[in-house]
Amino acid sequence: MSDFVIVGAGLAGAKAAEALREQGFDGRVILVGAEAHRPYERPPLSKGYLSGKSDREKVFVHTEDWYAEHRVEFTAERSVTAIDRAAHRVEFADGTSIGYDKLLLTTGSSPRRLTVPGADADGVHYLRTLDDSDALRDLLARVNRLVVIGAGWIGLEVTAAARQAGVEVTVVETAALPLLRVLGTEAAQVFADLHTAQGVEFRFGASIERVATADGRVTGVTLADGTDIPAEAVLVGVGAAPNTDLAEAAGLAVDNGVLVDAGLRTEDPDVYVAGDLANAEHPLLGRRIRVEHWANALKQPRTAAANMIGASATYDDLPYFYTDQYDLGMEYVGYVEPGEYDQVVFRGDVPGREFIAFWLKGSRVLAGMNVNVWDVTDPIKALIRSGAAVDPARLADPAVALTEVVPGSSPSAP
Ligand SMILES: Cc1cc2nc3c(=O)[nH]c(=O)nc-3n(C[C@H](O)[C@H](O)[C@H](O)COP(=O)(O)OP(=O)(O)OC[C@H]3O[C@@H](n4cnc5c(N)ncnc54)[C@H](O)[C@@H]3O)c2cc1C
Repeated sequence: MSDFVIVGAGLAGAKAAEALREQGFDGRVILVGAEAHRPYERPPLSKGYLSGKSDREKVFVHTEDWYAEHRVEFTAERSVTAIDRAAHRVEFADGTSIGYDKLLLTTGSSPRRLTVPGADADGVHYLRTLDDSDALRDLLARVNRLVVIGAGWIGLEVTAAARQAGVEVTVVETAALPLLRVLGTEAAQVFADLHTAQGVEFRFGASIERVATADGRVTGVTLADGTDIPAEAVLVGVGAAPNTDLAEAAGLAVDNGVLVDAGLRTEDPDVYVAGDLANAEHPLLGRRIRVEHWANALKQPRTAAANMIGASATYDDLPYFYTDQYDLGMEYVGYVEPGEYDQVVFRGDVPGREFIAFWLKGSRVLAGMNVNVWDVTDPIKALIRSGAAVDPARLADPAVALTEVVPGSSPSAP
């Protein structure tokens, strides 16, 4: 009987344990997590859970009983400090260790830290964990003015929750628009307009010189151009970095995540990686990508689990993510490197924020984003996967069904 160890008890770790059991693995499954909680999902932490609209119990991946019921030996508040690949053991700070036959690394990522003077003051917040979200929720009930550093997804979602709690928000962003790297100018403007309409003040092209403090507490921020912005708290949302230390120290190949093939295997036949940590070959895209999204952490573990058991599976789902901000709901599917597209085609009512945007390279669709339009992810995926040439005029025309945009395609195509 084999012992499988999973290091990192986030969504990917929990889903891997589930997939191992679903796929009939009967040996030991040991899930080790650094946090005090059983595995939970992070998206609600900046949305419904943060604003108090959804219950705490809903964030957890499984019920408390699920682990024992499925013979998953889950240990919280335990950090693996080293991997001895030759001995097939993971080690802990107290000198103890656990042996494995197969090892899955799902250590995820951590927020990038602000390094300017004052960055460690009381009132500077990050948002990654359930505890962070609890602290931020308390904060939003107490403060009047918040500075958000970074207009990425987390910064903007917290901004929306803060505005809904009546907090004045200034967002400081080095780029000229929010989400510019991901969406490009055309679609990023939609998010700038959305937040501006809600009374959010943006400082674009701006960087933080220091966090102003009094008695160790935040009193505001000073920008590089000398502007002072008063605030009682600061939320830093400047991206995340993969937790590669363990893998790197164990001699695994690391470059923006741990390098794995399309089956999520490292170069060590007994070590696999999934979720935010994996920089994986993508068969359809023909390149390695590392995806920091919920759907990837939800689904990749199935492939890793299958291969750990001895199957030969590949992961080729297209990256997918979503956001909710005020009354805007959005889904995005596909993959576009910054600047690697020729045009964005809009279909629907952009000012009214009810539309689909498509990113095209030549006449091929690389990605699509539906805003307040639902049940279109499958046809958008099919368009991307087909690699077919599309006519931008037909793509933009809501009278042409998405399944009929490619001439000769079947209206019932998936
Ligand atoms: C606030 C927030 C909102 C988000 N919203 C969205 C969204 O709307 N849509 C979307 O698609 N994605 C969203 N994401 C991204 C999504 O949550 C992540 O992609 C997902 O959590 C990745 O899961 P993971 O299991 O790979 O890693 P993680 O969730 O990072 O889990 C890794 C776990 O491993 C633990 N760990 C690390 N090192 C060790 C060690 N040495 N020993 C033991 N344990 C260790 C960590 O403590 C952590 O608990 C959001 C993320 C955040 C933070």
